[in-house]
Amino acid sequence: AKMEPERHICPYNADMDRQSRDKILLISDLRQAIANDEFELAYQLQNDIQSLAPIGFEVLLRWNHPTRGRVSPSDFIPAAEESGLIREIGLWVLRTACFEAMTWPRPYKIAVNVAPQQLVQPSFLEHVSDILFESRLPPERLELEVTEASIIDDQAHTLRVMHRLKEMGIGIAMDDFGTGYSSLATLQTFPFDKIKIDRSFVQNVHLDDQRAAIVRATLLLGAALKIPVLAEGVEVEDELSFLRRERCDLVQGFYFGRPMSRDDLHRLFERDARL
Ligand code: C2E
Ligand code: CA
Ligand code: CA
Ligand code: CA
Repeated sequence: AKMEPERHICPYNADMDRQSRDKILLISDLRQAIANDEFELAYQLQNDIQSLAPIGFEVLLRWNHPTRGRVSPSDFIPAAEESGLIREIGLWVLRTACFEAMTWPRPYKIAVNVAPQQLVQPSFLEHVSDILFESRLPPERLELEVTEASIIDDQAHTLRVMHRLKEMGIGIAMDDFGTGYSSLATLQTFPFDKIKIDRSFVQNVHLDDQRAAIVRATLLLGAALKIPVLAEGVEVEDELSFLRRERCDLVQGFYFGRPMSRDDLHRLFERDARL
């Protein structure tokens, strides 16, 4: 048989080549995005499960590229993290969100996602306190959503940062609870103020015994540790009734509202006097 030596010499194919070229292009577009004003924030309601009263909004980043169109965060956040650009983008998100929250008719909380590299950035605490000072947002209104991936890097350092944030009055939520490698150990070590049950467990929780068991156990855990639990990704009434019956504290999802643009949010505030 004929040998194909080049395959052994170079572990590389056209597909990989295209993929890495696409990624380089994506990263170079991302680098321009802040300067070109291509980012926008979307806001999604978080409600109290008993009264259904709105208590806050999660901030979700949106990217509108002139030729790519709307790029989904799950496509560009990983590239932003890999390239380190997430530090600059994350600060833009935090700053914009804090100023925006000051224009709301009531002191709703604002929940901002924080990427792994942001938390361990030496200047992170200073940036956060500058932004609070400049925007005048009371720290109690700010909540940072942190995933387990954000704290695997340097646990001791992360723990110091989190304690300092708490001293400042800022809340910290554990995002995507249950999807990491050691959610329980993480919960024990770090001072979380809220647990967010991942959407994958909430979807069809009323139909799936396994998910129901996991959600119930998480709610018991939250109650025992006195940490409020929010269920994310609530889409239908049956999911809501299940969560309410099981004494979940807070809910978020399409059932209550899709993430909204700033303009839509302000229209909603004007239309609904209770907001
Ligand atoms: P996440 O933090 O878990 O955010 C919740 C995601 O679920 C959002 O997707 C939201 O639009 C979506 N969602 C909310 N309710 C429902 C529902 O009822 N059903 C379904 N199917 N989906 C729902 P999105 O906006 O596409 O964001 C995806 C992920 O990208 C976020 O997941 C977060 O990890 C990341 N992300 C978004 N914005 C930022 C940001 O500003 N900074 C960082 N570091 N990450 C961000
Ligand atoms: Ca989140
Ligand atoms: Ca999630
Ligand atoms: Ca997530």
